[in-house]
Amino acid sequence: MHTNNVKEIDDLIKIISKLPGLGPKSAKRIVLKLINNREDITKPLVNTLAQIYKNIIRCKLCGNLKSKNTDCSCTNKSYDQICVVENIADMWVIENTGIYKGHYHILGGTINSLQSKKDDGLLISALVNRVNKNSVKEVILATSATIEGQTTAHYIQDTLKNTKVKISKLAQGLPVGGEIEFLDDGTLFSAFKNRGPVVSD
Ligand SMILES: [Zn+2]
Repeated sequence: MHTNNVKEIDDLIKIISKLPGLGPKSAKRIVLKLINNREDITKPLVNTLAQIYKNIIRCKLCGNLKSKNTDCSCTNKSYDQICVVENIADMWVIENTGIYKGHYHILGGTINSLQSKKDDGLLISALVNRVNKNSVKEVILATSATIEGQTTAHYIQDTLKNTKVKISKLAQGLPVGGEIEFLDDGTLFSAFKNRGPVVSD
């Protein structure tokens, strides 16, 4: 990529092209904007990125993002519901519908059906701890309608069997193979609203 003879600029274009939704063409426009707005955009951007890089981590208890220096909201004394999602993007789309204002649990992925150690890296035992510790009344499984998402939901259901928590699942009517992140607000809203208890087998 020889846009110009400044290596740093080519490097920046390459990095920005890796961001979702951006190709080389829009990356170049962004880089130009940054170069032409050093004080207004570039300086605060650099500072904010440095802060995020240094201070933002994943909470080991709930999987959400938190600042290193503050307690995560999952350590609040009491809450009744936990909505379990695969990733942060899924949480954001559910939040966006406005139907659920409770706590989340972010697994950080799904169980691959071929995986031998089921909760390898996923925060499933952390979920059980939260349910027990906070006397949670309902766990809402909001994993995707994909094979991996459903396998994961099943596994969690099984793991929570010995707790008294009510487990519910988004309503049928989610399109098969539908990933939460890409559902429209309306579909997600009604799937959430019409959620029902899971039937254990
Ligand atoms: Zn947390």
